[in-house]
Amino acid sequence: MARNVAVLAGDGIGPEVIAQAIKVLEATGSSFNFEHALVGGAAYDDGGHPLPAATLDLCRRSDAVLLGAVGGPKYDSIQPPELRPEVGALLPLRRELSLYANVRPVKTLKSLIKNSPLKGSRTGVDLVVMRELTGGIYFAQPRERRDNGNTAVDTCIYKREEIVRIAQRAFVIARQRRREIVSVDKANVLETSRLWREVVTEMSRLNPDVKVTHMLVDNCAMQLIRDPGQFDVILTENMFGDILSDEASMLTGSLGLLPSASLSDSKDGKVFGLYEPVHGSAPDIAGQGRANPIAAILSAALMLRYSFSDERNALRIEEAVDHALAAGLRTADIYERGNRLVSTTELGDAIAFKLKSAA
Ligand code: NAD
Repeated sequence: MARNVAVLAGDGIGPEVIAQAIKVLEATGSSFNFEHALVGGAAYDDGGHPLPAATLDLCRRSDAVLLGAVGGPKYDSIQPPELRPEVGALLPLRRELSLYANVRPVKTLKSLIKNSPLKGSRTGVDLVVMRELTGGIYFAQPRERRDNGNTAVDTCIYKREEIVRIAQRAFVIARQRRREIVSVDKANVLETSRLWREVVTEMSRLNPDVKVTHMLVDNCAMQLIRDPGQFDVILTENMFGDILSDEASMLTGSLGLLPSASLSDSKDGKVFGLYEPVHGSAPDIAGQGRANPIAAILSAALMLRYSFSDERNALRIEEAVDHALAAGLRTADIYERGNRLVSTTELGDAIAFKLKSAA
C-alpha cells in the first residue's frame, strides 16, 4: 500500500537534512509517495504566509508529515508576529492537525558515549520525554499587551481531558520500556500543575503496572544533569517539556542527533504524526554541508515505527546509523580526532548504502 508522506523541508538546514532522510527511506526498499510543500520562511517569501492553505491541505491528505525546520534571523522581525515562521506555521500545524503528543526519545548512541558533555559520569542515557504539545501557555488566550504595551499577559490553561489523553499515551510508551513514569509539574505554585498532578495520580491508580512518581520541574532540570539514568519516561506539559527535552537532548552530545514524533489520535488503526528533528534551522551552518542529518534520519525511522507500524525498517535505519558512526564517520558537530569528517550528504549516502547492501 502506498505510503503518502507530506514533505515540508522548510528553512536553513531543513532541506539539507530532509534530503538525506528521504534518501534513507527510499534505501529501505519500501515505496513512498512523497509530496513536497512550502512552510516557514520559504513559504512566507513565496506567498506572504508561513503556512499556506495548500500546505495544510496536503498534510491533511497525507498519512504522515516529515518536517525539516523553520525560521531564521531574516524572519525574526516580521510584523505581525503571527506571520513569523514559528508562531505562524509550527504552532498552527500542531493545533490544526491535533498533534498533542510529542515524543522525544533521548538515547546515547553507542559510538558517541564520549560526546556527552557529562564527561566520565555515566555510561549513557535512554529516556523518552512525553510532552503535551497543544495546550498550556503556548496556546491559551488571552495573550496580549495591556497598559500601553507595558504589561504583557500569557494565559496558561489546562483541561482535564488534555491531561488524560497525553497521560494515556505515556502509559502506552512506558509499557514498551521500563514501566516508570516521572510526571513533572510545578504543583507547589501553579494551579494548572495541581490539576495535572491530580489527574496523573488518578490515572496511575488505573494503571498499577506502571510506577508513577511526581517531580517538580526545577528539581527535574537538576536531576537530568545529576543522574539522567534514573529516568525512563518523563511526562510533562508543553512549556516544561520544551525546556526539559532540549536539556535532555544535549546529554547525548549534539542537537543534531535527536528525532521527534508529534502524534494525534489513531484512526482506523493508523497513527497520524508529524516527524521532525529536535533542532532548528541552524542558520549559522546552513548551506555549508555541515549539518548532521542523523536527527532527520532517525525522525524518518520514528515515522515508520509509529505511522506505518514498520518496526523492521525502523530498526534497520537505526542500525545503519549506528553502523556509520561505528565506522568513524562524523559531521563537524560530533567530530573528534581520529574520526573521518564527512559532509551532510556523505553521511546520508553512507547510511543509505548500508541499508541497500543489507537488504
Ligand atoms: P538551532 O537548533 O537551529 O541551532 C542551535 C545550535 O545547534 C547552532 O549552533 C546550530 O549550528 C547547531 N545545530 C542545530 N542543528 C544541527 C545539526 N543538525 N547539525 C549540526 N549542528 C546543528 O537553534 P537556534 O539557533 O536557537 O534557532 C535557529 C532558528 O531555528 C530560529 O529561527 C529558531 O526559531 C528556529 N527553530 C526552529 C525549530 C523548528 O523548526 N522546530 C526548532 C528550534 C528553533
